[in-house]
Amino acid sequence: VHSASCPKVCIVGGGPAGFYTAQHLVKTRPDVQVDIYERLPVPFGLVRFGVAPDHPEVKNVMNTFTQTAQHARCSFHGNVSVGKDVTVQELQEAYHAVVLSYGAEGNRTLGVPGEDLAGVHSAKDFVGWYNGLPTNRDLRPDLRCETAVILGQGNVALDVARILLSPVDILKNTDITQPALDTLAESSVRRVLIVGRRGPLQLACTIKELREMVNLPGTRPEMEASDFECIAKMLKVLPRPRKRLTELLLKVAVETPEETDWVIYSIGYKSLPIDPAVPFDPRKHIIPNTMGRVQKCAGLYCSGWVKRGPTGVIATTMNDSFDTARTLLHDMDEGTLDISTVKPGSAGVTTILEKRGVKPVLFSDWEKIDSEESKRGEARGKPREKLLDVGEMLKVAWT
Ligand code: FAD
Repeated sequence: VHSASCPKVCIVGGGPAGFYTAQHLVKTRPDVQVDIYERLPVPFGLVRFGVAPDHPEVKNVMNTFTQTAQHARCSFHGNVSVGKDVTVQELQEAYHAVVLSYGAEGNRTLGVPGEDLAGVHSAKDFVGWYNGLPTNRDLRPDLRCETAVILGQGNVALDVARILLSPVDILKNTDITQPALDTLAESSVRRVLIVGRRGPLQLACTIKELREMVNLPGTRPEMEASDFECIAKMLKVLPRPRKRLTELLLKVAVETPEETDWVIYSIGYKSLPIDPAVPFDPRKHIIPNTMGRVQKCAGLYCSGWVKRGPTGVIATTMNDSFDTARTLLHDMDEGTLDISTVKPGSAGVTTILEKRGVKPVLFSDWEKIDSEESKRGEARGKPREKLLDVGEMLKVAWT
């Protein structure tokens, strides 16, 4: 099936959107070749660098992604930063279609004075730090304070609160990085205030995360009772998921407190433009698209957070990526996506990268990193001890 004339698609970004788009393409069309280009030497995006260490069950999707990466008509090329090492236009010349699935690596900021002060961090950086994202390795948060404040009430805010308050005994057998574990073991934080700009009915988290928070061992939830006056009366008219969430809040609502030492703002992520050739909506921070087709750019598609904005769980990203794959396959079938010419695919891109001194990390190279991390983790009773440095990752990958 693997022939020079087969349709060739490349995907930019090796997170859930990239892998789910690839999965649907190779499963549905028996002749398509799919290559995934990922900036980091390691795959899986926010499943590795976002999902909380105490949610190992969520990370099981990595097994499905691994199967896709090992599919005969799919390949993974890590350590390739699209927009820098190779342009989107060069990818378009090498492939019949390019799918942009590079997530939302920017940070929404508050735009208020004091945001840059020491002791104020974004949740994105803090999460990246405890999950081993190389760029956040040196964050070194100073947790010698009693009260931490989190601005925002979504699932990421609750992840951060849980990590700050969880007994280290709960975390020590997860894949949290050792430096984060050591810092948390010394932490003086005893109280975390989770602040929202609106009321309990606008809480942005899901019930699973709220339940975990209010049931955390050694922790007592406190809520502003005055926020809950009138709410009980409204329960009947709320849609079922919101009703369950609010009932849980009402059950634990009591009086609250003041004051603060350490602040995390958790008000969301945002996508960034990666290449001037690709249209970008600077207000919504997404690539403008219709059902995954990038507007006014034939042969260019998008999926995941960069397509619809940084909301939704992995399952939402999966459905959205399958939709984009369906759109692309439909365009191939209808002939609106031209697959009649022979394209070089990864052979063409590899030549470009070689000239620029960029050596990709293949999936088999990642497997060496994976087994080194598992080995280091085993010694500490953890599923893995992540490598924190890109240089070290590359060394392990290529030996
Ligand atoms: P990403 O996962 O961000 O993947 C994008 C990939 O593109 C990354 O690997 C990145 O390195 C790569 N990339 C970026 N720029 C380039 C470039 N220029 N060239 C090449 N590659 C590039 N969902 C759940 O279901 N359960 C959870 O418990 C959960 N926890 C979460 C916790 C946090 C802190 C966050 C932020 C999200 C969480 N989610 C969770 C949501 C889930 O992670 C997202 O739905 C999903 O990861 C979005 O997938 P994506 O592929 O669009 O983006």
